[in-house]
Amino acid sequence: MTDSPAEPTVFERIVAREIPARIVAETDRVIAFHDIAPKAPVHVIVTTKTADYRDIVGLAAGDPALLAELVAVAQGVAAELGDGEFRLVFNTGASAGQTVFHVHAHVLAGGLEEGTLA
Ligand code: C5P
Repeated sequence: MTDSPAEPTVFERIVAREIPARIVAETDRVIAFHDIAPKAPVHVIVTTKTADYRDIVGLAAGDPALLAELVAVAQGVAAELGDGEFRLVFNTGASAGQTVFHVHAHVLAGGLEEGTLA
């Protein structure tokens, strides 16, 4: 089962190399690139190459192995660009701040304030 939107998302266009991104990691099914508007010293988007899932809820239900692969890529990015410790954020739904409806994680690392969520 999929829940992909009709129009290609910006991340689908990055996967297709139709628009540029600073790619930092890639597997057969996952891609990671620097966020264009970083909110932390390290702020990387990790997303699936498939546009079949709009958020983490759909991905976890539909392809848990792919979710695990996404988390492994996030960990690798945090180790490569920082000290291996990181915050992983999945905005889920517009009222939670999701703007791109193609499942993705924000990897935030490097100098995050203790005890805050943003
Ligand atoms: O979780 P949310 O859907 O709001 O995250 C989308 C993220 O994608 C934003 O942080 C935005 O800066 C990022 N973005 C990007 N490259 C684009 C378009 C959006 O890194 N071309």
